Amino acid sequence: MRVLVVLVLLLCASAAPPGAQTGPAQRTMAITIDDLPYVNTGGGEYLASAAPATERILAALRAHQARAVGFVNENKLEGDLERRAALLQRWVDAGLTLANHTYSHPDFNTRTVAEFRDEIVRGEVVTRQLMKPRAPYQLYFRHPMTHTGETVEKKEAIDRFLADRGYIVAPHTIENSDYIFNVGFVKATEQQNAALVERLRLAYLEHTLAATRFAERMSVELFGREIPQVLLIHTNAVTADRLPALLEALAGRAYRFVTLDEAMRDPAYATRDGYVGPHGPTWLFRWSKGLGRSISFAEDPDPPAWVAELYKRR
Ligand SMILES: [Zn+2]
Repeated sequence: MRVLVVLVLLLCASAAPPGAQTGPAQRTMAITIDDLPYVNTGGGEYLASAAPATERILAALRAHQARAVGFVNENKLEGDLERRAALLQRWVDAGLTLANHTYSHPDFNTRTVAEFRDEIVRGEVVTRQLMKPRAPYQLYFRHPMTHTGETVEKKEAIDRFLADRGYIVAPHTIENSDYIFNVGFVKATEQQNAALVERLRLAYLEHTLAATRFAERMSVELFGREIPQVLLIHTNAVTADRLPALLEALAGRAYRFVTLDEAMRDPAYATRDGYVGPHGPTWLFRWSKGLGRSISFAEDPDPPAWVAELYKRR
């Protein structure tokens, strides 16, 4: 009998695909994408980069039925309103939600409450118009750099203002510093340095998965279980290139992609954001403060030093 049990155990063990992860049979994640319509850091013309990148991002999301939220900076529409608003229309047509990321991406740490209120109001004009056929829908706001207020007074004043306008502040639990990877990636692509492009592709994927594993561990630490995760990425060249592979890898880690509405229905998301300060940490950190827990986030992975170096030399 014991031999049989051992045999069954061995068979079960060998049936697991190589590299399979241990953990819940099913995980969920909402995808949020910032700085729409597109962050063009390269030398090329805006639409020549933005249009194909948008299509690639939307196709990757569609392939995984990932109904993301896109956070818009409407100042990026300036000078070419019609064609750039048409890019945003593509997101709406794909069934995704557009949300407010302020008009011009200011740092709340350096603005007054009145100035920031103005940025919120100016930031919703085109977006609300495009989303009109989808009403009623949940309005989301995300502070640039997730700088939510360096003093209690500022934070509470803007939180009240947002709530009065019907907004929920969008949280995130995973952030992959893709804007750091993007600088080296765009440069290596322009210089046709295929080896460096490949190295960055691999590093991007490895880092994002490391950040994901960290968030999984922290949610168990805080809530005793894995909660729905919320990933924050940006519309840029590296995201357009890597999103198909990233979503595939996450699906391989048992992730199913859900809307932000659905992720936030988890009771964990009712936890108080207890962080007040000049930085923009994840909500796992903010919740640890709200719960009065002192948990080390020292192991939250940073991008590799060589990638950070490419970014610094920009
Ligand atoms: Zn942003």
